[in-house]
Amino acid sequence: MKVAEKEKCTSCGSCYNVCPVNAISMKEDREGFLRPAIDERLCTNCGLCSKVCPEVSNYEAKGFKKPTVYAAWNLDEAVRINSSSGGIFSVLSDYILEQGGVVFGAAFDEKLKVKHIPVFRKEELYKLRGSKYVQSEINNSFSQVREYLDENKKVLFSGTPCQVAGLLSFLGKDPPNLLTCDFVCHGVLSPKVFVGYLRYLGQENNSKVTKIYFRDKRFGWDNFSVHVTFKNNKEYTVSPRKDKFFRGFAMSVYLRPSCSICRYAKIPRVGDISLGDFWGIGEEQKFTYNTHDGVSMVLINSTKGEDIFDLCRDRCFIKQRELKEAVKNNAHLSLPSKASKYRTIFFSIFNRKGFAAASKKYSGNGIIKRIVTKIVGSKIIKIIEWGRFMLFKKT
Ligand SMILES: Cc1cc2nc3c(=O)[nH]c(=O)nc-3n(C[C@H](O)[C@H](O)[C@H](O)COP(=O)(O)OP(=O)(O)OC[C@H]3O[C@@H](n4cnc5c(N)ncnc54)[C@H](O)[C@@H]3O)c2cc1C
Repeated sequence: MKVAEKEKCTSCGSCYNVCPVNAISMKEDREGFLRPAIDERLCTNCGLCSKVCPEVSNYEAKGFKKPTVYAAWNLDEAVRINSSSGGIFSVLSDYILEQGGVVFGAAFDEKLKVKHIPVFRKEELYKLRGSKYVQSEINNSFSQVREYLDENKKVLFSGTPCQVAGLLSFLGKDPPNLLTCDFVCHGVLSPKVFVGYLRYLGQENNSKVTKIYFRDKRFGWDNFSVHVTFKNNKEYTVSPRKDKFFRGFAMSVYLRPSCSICRYAKIPRVGDISLGDFWGIGEEQKFTYNTHDGVSMVLINSTKGEDIFDLCRDRCFIKQRELKEAVKNNAHLSLPSKASKYRTIFFSIFNRKGFAAASKKYSGNGIIKRIVTKIVGSKIIKIIEWGRFMLFKKT
């Protein structure tokens, strides 16, 4: 049977979920990304895996050509601060849970593996809050979504655009009780590299990492830090520019290969609602409100999305903005991330010597950088690096 070619496969899991004889398993490749493996002894050639694969069928997004755009945030200040952007994901989740529904999203498990899980109560929503950046395992969530829909429950499914495309393709329809929420996506990181990074942090700090938060907003949404907690209660807070893992993410060193040819980094969108950070708000068009704790960019892509967002209005601060402002400040609304020139060498060293050695390739003070620093001075280098990081936010 046919599933997507290696470079195109997004690991959405639609083939794994649809196989009626469990002939498909998701196996880790040498870069640490999951890929479907078909057991030919079990396969009955029914063709369902090819039918539901969004990359084989060239799944096309059906969202509005001109989505309505809002800058928005959750009026619950504590939730806003604990969310990556403005906490609008939690606004939508609260609404669905109040209707007796289920919310699917990505959470860390006890070993810090990122997996999609269902959440049934508001008290559990904290598990899904915050961007994890590592590719999440879908496992059997699509089949679970179908079961809850069959029970007539409302379901909110949130994930990368390719995961949302996978779910819709698996269902073969867009049921009225399902709300899909994608986000503007820079791309997802290798889970194996993340394990390597956690090991490296553990060795450096003589203790195991117990918690990691990539978007600590204590110093502001626009000035977030990476925050890590260790078993011995030690804490590590660092600017994303200085954290080796986040830096590799920003430079697209270990993104999934399909992320660099992503077909969903555009408008129209796949989900009913798209969320992102409203980077650069106010640069073009005046915005006089306090953005310190985070601003979500909300794109309404369907009538269903519009109706549900309308019902959530009283829980949010909302201002309508121009589509061109959103697109100008968030490159992944029009193009995917370009893979780093360090990608191949990184994986070659990583697989032999681990994260610390491999990350030197893109984050170390190489000889050229040392010479340039001596000539122009470290302050100027710092300003250049800051400028490059700010540019990443837009790309
Ligand atoms: C891999 C990745 C890349 C992103 N790239 C960009 C970008 O380039 N530009 C931009 O503006 N925004 C980007 N975002 C989106 C942004 O970081 C916020 O997730 C989004 O704005 C929602 O924020 P929030 O404050 O509403 O809620 P939050 O509570 O912060 O959102 C959490 C939501 O994100 C989902 N999520 C978290 N990690 C993952 C994961 N690994 N896989 C799938 N779903 C996950 C959760 O399930 C939950 O639904 C990215 C997010 C991720 C996970």
